[in-house]
Amino acid sequence: MGKVLIIDINKCNGCHNCQIACKDEHVGNDWSPIARPQPMTGHFWTKVTDKVRGSVPKVKVSYLHSICRHCDEAPCIKACTEKAIYKRPDGIVIIDPLKCRGHKDCIRECPYEDVIWFNEELNISQKCTFCAHLIDKGWNETRCSDACPTGAFTFGEEEELKELISMAELSEIDLKTKPRVYFIGLPKRFIGATLFDPEEDEVIIGADVSIINASNKKEISIKTDDFGDFWVDGLSPDNYTIIIKKDGYAEKRLDADLADKDVNLGDIPMAREDK
Ligand code: SF4
Ligand code: SF4
Repeated sequence: MGKVLIIDINKCNGCHNCQIACKDEHVGNDWSPIARPQPMTGHFWTKVTDKVRGSVPKVKVSYLHSICRHCDEAPCIKACTEKAIYKRPDGIVIIDPLKCRGHKDCIRECPYEDVIWFNEELNISQKCTFCAHLIDKGWNETRCSDACPTGAFTFGEEEELKELISMAELSEIDLKTKPRVYFIGLPKRFIGATLFDPEEDEVIIGADVSIINASNKKEISIKTDDFGDFWVDGLSPDNYTIIIKKDGYAEKRLDADLADKDVNLGDIPMAREDK
């Protein structure tokens, strides 16, 4: 029971409307006892970051979101010696701006990045409130969810959104903190390349490419397209072996390390078998 926010990364086009709507709602407005004003610059209670993946010409951009998860097992609540942070019956976690004494224990203990911000002028920690001041007036949306033009944000009752929640991914941290913000479509890894025949100076169309995960041996098969390209997304961070076969050409084996980043293998020359 309680409020949840589900962010579908696949639907986010990086317009930053959510970030701006949060500013519009909270900069210069004192919603005590829910929140005091957010600083004009530098602080983002919901923050969109561009993650550029791969290298030219095989590049994808994903938009990542930082926001308080309104955890059911919130380390910030446990860390606050002033007992200034509390969870409402509707699941929303609030830092009481009148009780906060600026010890920053919550910032140290929150396991998520760029979630709690320290307002030097007011000497208090601040973060997303799920716009509780609006919910209490009968709103069914937060300002950020209301502002999203692509429907990437879904805000509502946990009971009614079980199906969407079941599609979300949880990290190891999430399993401990039990967040109320869920993500769908978090970026994985991709690998891509272009095959070409150096003698003909032509791309190789329809080559068979197998991408094999080194840990679980799971194999994905794909053919190069009309531009000699193959491009596979959604891979887990790991090491891979790539085997390329095409009639008339010598088989090619390559290794790729996708543990930390997406990989563009670039232009791969294929040698004729009779050479
Ligand atoms: S995300 Fe961080 S600030 Fe928000 S409730 Fe969880 S521990 Fe607290
Ligand atoms: S729910 Fe409200 S306070 Fe939280 S990030 Fe969205 S607009 Fe800002």
